[in-house]
Amino acid sequence: MTQDTLTSPARLELVRQAIAATVQAAGRAVGDVTLVAVSKTFAPDDIRPVLETGQRVFGENRVQEAHGKWPGLRESFSDIELHLIGPLQSNKVDDAISLFDVIETLDREKLARALVAERDKGQALPDLFVQVNTGAEPQKAGVLPEEVDAFVRLCREELSLPVVGLMCIPPVDEEPALHFTLLEKIAQRNNLQKLSMGMSGDFETAVEFGATHVRVGSAIFGSRTAP
Ligand SMILES: *Cc1c(COP(=O)(O)O)cnc(C)c1O
Repeated sequence: MTQDTLTSPARLELVRQAIAATVQAAGRAVGDVTLVAVSKTFAPDDIRPVLETGQRVFGENRVQEAHGKWPGLRESFSDIELHLIGPLQSNKVDDAISLFDVIETLDREKLARALVAERDKGQALPDLFVQVNTGAEPQKAGVLPEEVDAFVRLCREELSLPVVGLMCIPPVDEEPALHFTLLEKIAQRNNLQKLSMGMSGDFETAVEFGATHVRVGSAIFGSRTAP
């Protein structure tokens, strides 16, 4: 899907059209799916043209990098919605909640309790997604599928955290639809409405399987040179 000869606004338009077509074909309502434009590794000058098209929801995977980029952009565009889609250390929670509107990577009790501690200090918390390690990959973050129900219960009932949905990153070498189906099932039985799944290579599949948020980076911004 990456077409490096096009500008990022042109690629964004193609992604938007693909999402709209898939939403329609799936019989879902337009507006059901939020495009999170993943701008990690890209500079403010690369992001600005995408903001100028009207895109307002963005994803970043590193707290420090995001702090260097987004306060300046927010001076020009006040209604940006920023999602943290990368791992969060519990000692960086205050930095994260001062910048991000949504944290998609809640994945352990220590982090949940660090969020509670910030709320107890009077901080408003962003909406939270629980990251699920659907492929049970040892190197990957996320709660194991068999532990999600208990973790969601802990977060919502005991800690009263604003958990709104689930997020996953399927293993690179497996059929993503299996993982999207699994995530959707876990969300259903936990009565969670939002599903963040699908990236540049598989966002259309994710929409077919119920994604409410797709996280698309290289298909919009072009290939990344740095990891
Ligand atoms: C980088 C990243 C994406 C976007 O990946 P692309 O393949 O460039 O679309 C999505 N989700 C997460 C968690 C990421 O780190």
